Amino acid sequence: MRRALIATLVAGLAASAAHAQAPSLRLVGADGDVAVEGMVLDGAAAFPVAVLERLGASVVDDVTETRVVVYGDTLTFAAGSPFFRAGGAVHALALPARRSSGTLYLPEQFFLEWLPRQHGEQVAWRSGALRTTTPLAAPGAAKRSAPVTRVVVIDPGHGGRDAGKIGPNGVREKDVVLAIGLRLRDLLTERGYEVYMTRDRDTLIALADRPRMANAWKNGRQRAVFLSIHANSWRPSVRGFETYFLSDARTEDARRVAEMENAAAQYDEDVGESDDVAEMILNSLRNDFYVRASNDLAEVVQRSLAGFHDGPDRGVKQAGFRVLVGALMPAVLIETAYLSNPHEAELLARSDFQQKLAQGIAEAVDRFFAQHEHLWAEGAP
Ligand SMILES: [Zn+2]
Repeated sequence: MRRALIATLVAGLAASAAHAQAPSLRLVGADGDVAVEGMVLDGAAAFPVAVLERLGASVVDDVTETRVVVYGDTLTFAAGSPFFRAGGAVHALALPARRSSGTLYLPEQFFLEWLPRQHGEQVAWRSGALRTTTPLAAPGAAKRSAPVTRVVVIDPGHGGRDAGKIGPNGVREKDVVLAIGLRLRDLLTERGYEVYMTRDRDTLIALADRPRMANAWKNGRQRAVFLSIHANSWRPSVRGFETYFLSDARTEDARRVAEMENAAAQYDEDVGESDDVAEMILNSLRNDFYVRASNDLAEVVQRSLAGFHDGPDRGVKQAGFRVLVGALMPAVLIETAYLSNPHEAELLARSDFQQKLAQGIAEAVDRFFAQHEHLWAEGAP
């Protein structure tokens, strides 16, 4: 073998000097040399998955998972997971894959250990360098699919003059749902979603404007969901969580909750003919996909919250919520807990419980998009 033709991949570790320095992975080939910048994640060097394109791999980077075909192996990674699939088997990473600014990063160990061990014919880690017998490919030479955008509109209920319900501890619904919404925004942004909030501060947005804002942000794209976040209120002994999608109310209780949340419409100004709720509900019902998908979304939210919520799972319900009318996307209203119950009012005021709710909803969003991807791929609206 002629050494001159052997491309050499050199990993330069960041010196742990007084100032943190980005680690770099240096690729040296017959056609020159390139340094690929990495990041320190979880206290160790990590490099973008696109480095593999230099080895001739194809990389399809999606929000929920990243697929790489390298040396005939199909690898599937997911942000936050310390495991990945290779063919039918599950393999471990030294540290979880992480997404930063939309790019998936893998721990250094994957490039220096796993890859040479798995594909010793093509690559070897020797004398501090990953050596490959193939020429280095140009960056982005392999065909990459355009990243798929997934839009999430978070709608913290009430705000401004409309405090929503007030707990026995004085906690206001408008404040806790905003706190949960802001935490959810951060979690979903980190996961690569395009996130919008109908309000990100203490201000009142008209009920009818909220789905209109969501439709404008969706801007004709396929993949979007609308999440309205609330806290419930009834008799002091009642506890738990429930998720609604838009339809005719099936029970007295569902009708009561819808009337309570719709009462915020008294703060709306200029309610014109276009806000005929009955007519708009009918229009929405005509769109079978949104109704079914909203029902599915409500179910995954309930299942996810049941994982940590100590209140009873009160199930998926349907009712005529004004705030869901006219949203051209799967839309649900989540009653996270009962502010009228002293125990749950205390929980809702706590940042750790708000974070758990945000985490649970974020996981439900992940699951929902993963489950419905095939429908959008087949042309669902
Ligand atoms: Zn509410």
